[in-house]
Amino acid sequence: MIIQCRCLTKRYPADQGMVAAVNNVNLVVAQGEFVIILGHSGSGKTTLLSLIGGLTEPDSGEVLVNGVDNWHQSDEALSDMRNRTIGFVFQFASLIPTLTSLENVLLPLSFGRVPRGSHEQAREILARVGLGDKMHAYPGQLSGGQQRRIAIARAFINQPAIILADEPTGDLDEETENDILRIFRDYNEHGTTFVVVTHNVHLARTQKNPRVLEMRQGTLLEQDGRFA
Ligand code: ADP
Ligand code: MG
Repeated sequence: MIIQCRCLTKRYPADQGMVAAVNNVNLVVAQGEFVIILGHSGSGKTTLLSLIGGLTEPDSGEVLVNGVDNWHQSDEALSDMRNRTIGFVFQFASLIPTLTSLENVLLPLSFGRVPRGSHEQAREILARVGLGDKMHAYPGQLSGGQQRRIAIARAFINQPAIILADEPTGDLDEETENDILRIFRDYNEHGTTFVVVTHNVHLARTQKNPRVLEMRQGTLLEQDGRFA
């Protein structure tokens, strides 16, 4: 198994005391799985992804990635895991405005050794997301959907074993959405593990053999097929 969450809980202060954004979640994801977590706004999806990716520390419980507890290792080992093992597709693009598309895609590599052929790979990924002619454009010169595609290309540059994606198709036009989902499927067929959180109930149809779960008020439920 590549991801293991055990009794994972994260609480936040709310109007009336503390609210568990993620409440006692257990989840095992095997290598190569495509996991889709559906849930309404506020159900805890983003918090769960952030816990899995080691960006947020749980109040209790643990997350193991490749058998290593996120919070029982050095800071250096944790950031190394985040940089090399995981590709993040955030809900908001979070691109660096002073870097071109190509430079933004190459950014994750600047934290370590830059492998040979990275530039070609970055160009190839940008072409695959339909931005072959925007390599040298700056984020401010691009539409929201184009910026989102750069963020997706950036997530793949390190050839991560795991992609964590938060509403990856939100505010994309249908054609781009289909392109992105085809790219996800292609990577998944080549062994990349995905955990995608979304309220898009149609996303499951676009993937080969997805496992669909549902989040409700911080609790993760096995899906009963209503959304499939
Ligand atoms: P989703 O992604 O499904 O919309 P979130 O994980 O963003 O849900 O949020 C789940 C709950 O936790 C919500 O009630 C939200 O208000 C609360 N929450 C999330 N992040 C924070 C935070 N940083 N501070 C306070 N409350 C938060
Ligand atoms: Mg969210």
